[in-house]
Amino acid sequence: MTSLWLDDAPAIASDPLPAESRYDDVVVGGGLTGLTTALLLARSGRSVAVLEARTVGAVTTGNTTAKLSLLQGTKVSAIRRHHTHRVAQAYVDGNLEGQQWLLRYCEEHGVPVQRHTAVTYANTAGGVPTVKAELEALRDAGLEAQWHDGFDELPYDTHGGVSLADQAQFDPMDVLAALAADLRAHGGLIHEGVRVTGVSTGSPCTVTTDVGTVTAQNVVLATGMPILDRSLYFAKLAPMRSYCVAFEGVSAMPQAMYLSADQPSRSLRTAPRSDGRTLLIVGGSGHGVGRARSPQKHVDQLRQWTAKHFPEARETHWWSAQDYSPADQIPFVGPMPRGGGHVYVATGFDKWGMTNAVAAAIRLSAEMLGGHVSWAGPMRHRVTDPLAALKGVQLNAEVGALMTSGHVGAQLRPAPAAPPEGQGTVGRAEGLRPTAVSTVNGVTCAVSAVCSHLGGIVSWNDAEKSWDCPLHGSRFTPDGAVLEGPATTPLKPRDD
Ligand SMILES: Cc1cc2nc3c(=O)[nH]c(=O)nc-3n(C[C@H](O)[C@H](O)[C@H](O)COP(=O)(O)OP(=O)(O)OC[C@H]3O[C@@H](n4cnc5c(N)ncnc54)[C@H](O)[C@@H]3O)c2cc1C
Repeated sequence: MTSLWLDDAPAIASDPLPAESRYDDVVVGGGLTGLTTALLLARSGRSVAVLEARTVGAVTTGNTTAKLSLLQGTKVSAIRRHHTHRVAQAYVDGNLEGQQWLLRYCEEHGVPVQRHTAVTYANTAGGVPTVKAELEALRDAGLEAQWHDGFDELPYDTHGGVSLADQAQFDPMDVLAALAADLRAHGGLIHEGVRVTGVSTGSPCTVTTDVGTVTAQNVVLATGMPILDRSLYFAKLAPMRSYCVAFEGVSAMPQAMYLSADQPSRSLRTAPRSDGRTLLIVGGSGHGVGRARSPQKHVDQLRQWTAKHFPEARETHWWSAQDYSPADQIPFVGPMPRGGGHVYVATGFDKWGMTNAVAAAIRLSAEMLGGHVSWAGPMRHRVTDPLAALKGVQLNAEVGALMTSGHVGAQLRPAPAAPPEGQGTVGRAEGLRPTAVSTVNGVTCAVSAVCSHLGGIVSWNDAEKSWDCPLHGSRFTPDGAVLEGPATTPLKPRDD
């Protein structure tokens, strides 16, 4: 579904891709990471092109909640469980620089920003120690976090929480539109509808796309999950999907930006619109991509919860998106191993990319231009602790089990000729081939159920009407076109 932000997004210009084009730097991906990195490079006099498979903001950035906050749920205490104080401090310093850069940028470019207090609260008594640990971790990192026993403006009870004053929120498409216009003003180009399918490293690198070949000295993969498998990032990141619903008509609107630390996970923020309305966005109900029996039920959970606590709320939009959680909590940013020193990645923002994407862009552009940022070192040289290593092993054990159960499950029943409207089913077709059949808007499509990334069996997303791979988070339309994730080629047609 279309997010509140994408529904009335400002127009963003796209440039046709000339044949045989050559740039200093190619940035793959037109989200916040890609556009900020491209702008910083273009400002330094480099010739830069952004290659975007869909449209600017189409994937996670245009479907985010867009809180620009250093209080990120229980992130800093989670980092402290795996890493030294030095690494946690570096994470906070990098996020602070990303936040301050974006706030300055918005002010200079007339992008509306609302300043609010951020809150992480405990739903249950059992959640209190986790939230208190975050309070301590934030204070250790030099942030002036406060404890509260309750929050009067919420229409439900909590077990207390931590707050951090003077954080921010915005409309992410306003930010992307400003970055895109600025990039083009600095000579950068944005090519939408160009999907990168491979990169050969060298001097220059050759970037293969579905519409031609481009060469560049450096290539930045700002694609969410990196699209090249040579560094196995897909084995270190868990793709996590979650949901947002926007409502109008709420009379007593909570002003702070709230997030619960324990279940049920709920995120709240206001969203002022240009027509004078202020909407309430309720988020949460997340799960691993492709692993929920019915994603639609997760959207309904948010609706029911809102009806209970804000009975006058009237729904205007709902949407969903995914982001990638690293086993050891720290994003992967920098030169890609086996990338010849010319291919860079930025991923693993764990649903906190508004600050992390900008921090990554600052760090990548500095490294590519021969500079240095002080907080990058401790994160780059972090040691994987046994707990994170175990989480990584568990992640891959789950992937292995899902690979087997998916293929076995696909053989247990024949693929239907035509499922009911809005539904999709995986089954065996002629020659025992796993086949994914769906009916959407009266059109029945049959495609291979085998994910074109690494061969997982896709599962039906009854909310978004898509085929989602539970292994590494690739998603496809009913007729098999790539929507997002590490896959670069469609699901095979079934008349092959
Ligand atoms: C529900 C939800 C709520 C969130 N809320 C917050 C929040 O409140 N605060 C916060 O800080 N963070 C939040 N996040 C996280 C944040 O939105 C993301 O971390 C951030 O938007 C990631 O930006 P990105 O540019 O790296 O990725 P994206 O915005 O996904 O951009 C990647 C781009 O790469 C393109 N691409 C992919 N493959 C190819 C290819 N082969 N060729 C060409 N282009 C390609 C895609 O089409 C896409 O446009 C949230 C995330 C989710 C899922």
